[in-house]
Amino acid sequence: MILIGDYHTHTQYSHGKSSIEDNVKVAISKGLKEIAICDHGPGHFLYGVKKKNIPLMKEEILRLNDKYSKDGINILLGVESNIISFDGMIDMDEKLIKHTDILLLGYHYGIVPASVVDGIGFYIKNPLAKFSGLGKEKSIELNTLAFIKAINKYPIDFITHPGAKVKLDIKELAREAKKVGTALEINAKHGELSVENIKLAMREGVEFIVNSDAHIASDVGNIEKSLERVEESGLSLDMIKNIKT
Ligand SMILES: [Zn+2]
Ligand SMILES: [Zn+2]
Repeated sequence: MILIGDYHTHTQYSHGKSSIEDNVKVAISKGLKEIAICDHGPGHFLYGVKKKNIPLMKEEILRLNDKYSKDGINILLGVESNIISFDGMIDMDEKLIKHTDILLLGYHYGIVPASVVDGIGFYIKNPLAKFSGLGKEKSIELNTLAFIKAINKYPIDFITHPGAKVKLDIKELAREAKKVGTALEINAKHGELSVENIKLAMREGVEFIVNSDAHIASDVGNIEKSLERVEESGLSLDMIKNIKT
């Protein structure tokens, strides 16, 4: 089994500890063929990447691709975008997306919602549903629908840690994700997808991806925790996009 690439790594451009080059060097040392630099989307008010930095990151990545092509690595620019409305809006517009090679989507606290109603849903209703079960079913339905709308609106390559931070109907999400060719991530840093959710999703025939979600260079390529859950769930390695058997 070979890990082809790690497609979810953070840098100092959001709240990672390392530089793009640090991440690249570790990827090379671990024999990866590709690495994606995917900092948090600009809609996150604490550690979102600054919009003006996205083209600069692209330039830096082009330079590093030249410098390290002899090492057989391909470096991609991505963003871990955020859902900012229940209508499936994300914090990346067409102009910003043009700079990227890969687009991730996740749910995070700390985003600036698209409207007051979205804000109430994200910051009041969702936490209430999570902690007290109040309106839980409705919350799950609305959150799942937001993701489904987003993957139909934007070219999302995969959804990061689905089910972490907010509960989702994974079966429904997997079914719709398969239709548009969006994969579901088995994230090494977060416990989601969980074993139970991998089992639900794999029955829908959706593709998966395993990533480190490294926030420090030394974590790049560390996907052991993902593989433990893969093994426990009985998921076939053929269904994982970035693993070669
Ligand atoms: Zn995330
Ligand atoms: Zn992340």
